[in-house]
Amino acid sequence: MSSPSKQLMLDQIKADILSKNVCPDLAKQATQLVFGVGDPNAEILFVGEAPGKKEDLQGEPFIGASGKFLNELLASIGLNRQNIYITNIVKYRPPNNRDPKASEKADFLPYLIKQIDIIKPKLIITLGRHSMEALLPPGVTISLAHGQLQEYQGRNYLPLYHPAAALYNGSLRQTLISDFQKIPSIIKTK
Ligand code: URA
Repeated sequence: MSSPSKQLMLDQIKADILSKNVCPDLAKQATQLVFGVGDPNAEILFVGEAPGKKEDLQGEPFIGASGKFLNELLASIGLNRQNIYITNIVKYRPPNNRDPKASEKADFLPYLIKQIDIIKPKLIITLGRHSMEALLPPGVTISLAHGQLQEYQGRNYLPLYHPAAALYNGSLRQTLISDFQKIPSIIKTK
């Protein structure tokens, strides 16, 4: 499928979230919906947790401190944000950056699945436990699953620690950097 039509389909999902008034309590407190950015034909889809303050203001995922770290990680394997697609499980900023609630993740999940089905990435990289728990079966824990390719319901997943968690924790940071180095060889085999 050519990218303009994929983009049109993604635009329709965004319009559906707005017209169906998904998570109205979050929507009321947020500046805007943060839907996702990048190449609709990307081989790799990154899924984070929820927008933070900067993302809420600018309407783009991962543009704050953790986004800068993510850019560095991408550069370390020769990628940049134009080569990938990035979104979050929850698409409005939770007040004061609290953790997203289970009900909020469940309400947004069908829309994330539609994004995945349109983009059809070779690899879905979950950043942190919220997107991992939304997409992978119960019992998968990030401390064991990080950096390990998971095949589930016909899709390939690589759970990683969240860049925000790794930013100020030396050992998680090293783990995230070395897990990232596995991405190119996984992509080659898929
Ligand atoms: N953290 C996330 O999980 N997503 C963002 O978009 C920004 C920070």
